[in-house]
Amino acid sequence: MTSSILKGSLNFLSEKHKAELSKQLKAWTTVMPHQLAVWLGIEYSEALAVLSVLEAQGLCEMKLLIYHNCEPEVPVGAIPYGKGFPNLPWTCPNCDKSIDNYDELSFDLMAEFK
Ligand SMILES: [Zn+2]
Repeated sequence: MTSSILKGSLNFLSEKHKAELSKQLKAWTTVMPHQLAVWLGIEYSEALAVLSVLEAQGLCEMKLLIYHNCEPEVPVGAIPYGKGFPNLPWTCPNCDKSIDNYDELSFDLMAEFK
């Protein structure tokens, strides 16, 4: 099933990329666009396009990861992507601080496979 999906929608990927992607899809539970870009040797924007196609096919769900200054390497929250940014003030579940400025937060994307 996966290979037929990839065939039509992702023509900008080489056959080698598609084979690699099909293989990886079975193993992934989550992937971030920059990881995918590194694994496949493609641009970040292309990786994002790949994940959008997979999401449109119902294979994964895009999440917006929320990072706070208190723990810069670990996401402290995640909301469905496409719903914008968290409402302020936002309480960090990690340090319980009430945040009223987006400057204290940073964001990244993650695809969660079903
Ligand atoms: Zn925090």
